[in-house]
Amino acid sequence: MFSKNVSPSSSHQVDVLVIGAGPAGIAAACVAAEAGKNVAVLDSSPWLGGQIWRGEQAHPTQAAAQQWIWRLKKSGAQLFASATAFAAPTPRCMLAETPTSVLAITWQKLIFATGARELFIPFPGWTLPGVLGPGGLHAMAKSGWPVTGQRVVVAGTGPLLLAVTAGLQQHGARVCLVAEQTSTAKLIRFGLGLWRHPGKLAQGVGVKARILGVPYRCDCWPVKAEGADRLQRVTLTRGADTWTVDCDYLVCGFHLVPNVELPLLLGCALDQGVVRVNEFQETTVTDVYCAGEPTGIGGADCALVEGRIAGLAAAGLTKQARALMSQRASWHRFRAALNKAFALRPDLRRLATPDTVVCRCEDVPRQEMESFDNWRAAKLHTRCGMGACQGRTCGAAAQFLFGWDNNSVRPPAFPVRMGALIGAETTWNPHAISTASKP
Ligand SMILES: Cc1cc2nc3c(=O)[nH]c(=O)nc-3n(C[C@H](O)[C@H](O)[C@H](O)COP(=O)(O)OP(=O)(O)OC[C@H]3O[C@@H](n4cnc5c(N)ncnc54)[C@H](O)[C@@H]3O)c2cc1C
Repeated sequence: MFSKNVSPSSSHQVDVLVIGAGPAGIAAACVAAEAGKNVAVLDSSPWLGGQIWRGEQAHPTQAAAQQWIWRLKKSGAQLFASATAFAAPTPRCMLAETPTSVLAITWQKLIFATGARELFIPFPGWTLPGVLGPGGLHAMAKSGWPVTGQRVVVAGTGPLLLAVTAGLQQHGARVCLVAEQTSTAKLIRFGLGLWRHPGKLAQGVGVKARILGVPYRCDCWPVKAEGADRLQRVTLTRGADTWTVDCDYLVCGFHLVPNVELPLLLGCALDQGVVRVNEFQETTVTDVYCAGEPTGIGGADCALVEGRIAGLAAAGLTKQARALMSQRASWHRFRAALNKAFALRPDLRRLATPDTVVCRCEDVPRQEMESFDNWRAAKLHTRCGMGACQGRTCGAAAQFLFGWDNNSVRPPAFPVRMGALIGAETTWNPHAISTASKP
């Protein structure tokens, strides 16, 4: 857990505010705080570390995670746990909801390091209990959810499938099959190019060695999940073959979608779905930086170096930031190769049948959505994207299925309690209380 907690409805002023405490945010906060800046870091999770290092404080397994988390704690940066940034009511002010309060943080420089989430592509049965994202079941297993002896099919795309397979096996699950949608040729080309990144090559070989014996099929993906009350079997396709596998869990994720809601809220421009940044990781909005997955899906090492450049630049240390740029260029080549190798095949757009639910919060099937020609119209007429997840799942799916842009974000960017909205008014605008209490 983070080391500090906050008093209810408090205001703070900092030089540098970092949103997200994954590798990118931790690196950014460390270097900015070590440069003498007054830094605050907030994360919606109670744990430091983001997707990959979450839980490392309690159960350390990775040296790099330990070193960075230790360095952050020594850096003097102020840490706010379970704090979700959701609105920016005035220039240079960010509001965040915690379980008990609202924080209003005013900043001189802001660094977004909000990571990415899994992309779910709807197919018949994808909403059955027992069908989850790979990262989701892995995180549950790490938190103690029992998977021992459970039969799991891992499907989708990307290196994450291998990491999750190894992780689930470590927790006692029986992975029956890994179904990777990309082609064997693309995968081999990607593997051959890894000599440029010996660390990644070693990591890949290590993971593959840990899952020897688990069938791994390229050009393969699930077409149907079935079961009475929960998942019992999944039908897969590969070339001309279609077959069914009995299982307890299907974990299925088709790569990642950058979390760009907050940058959009502040008016940062995007390029093809990722935040546009300059050589110092500064966005198109002055003094607002972005690092890690929101600028492109490139893995933890890429996130770390981008975070360091953003943190140094925000602290005014541009010479030191510049010294890291060749390292970043190398990780950007890896990122480009990764995204090329695991690009989604168009066949996946045909997985959802007319009655397959696309928006699971509001129960909107594909046929209702596809009678419209843009996200906004579909949303207004069908309520897709208006449920609890606020389109974070179905918005990305609709973008893939129909090619719709859904880049408009309104505050609150994430669902928050009514109390938080009321608290927000009084926290960042204390005048509101006195005005409201006047007869
Ligand atoms: C199961 C799993 C295994 C992986 N294995 C590997 C691996 O072996 N090697 C590898 O290179 N990569 C791996 N990855 C990918 C790796 O996790 C990412 O590349 C890396 O975490 C990116 O770092 P980041 O800092 O950009 O984002 P993240 O680690 O995603 O951190 C973003 C943080 O921002 C926080 N956040 C988001 N929005 C808000 C908000 N509004 N308010 C407050 N906080 C917010 C989130 O809670 C999160 O903690 C794995 C991912 C998963 C899910």
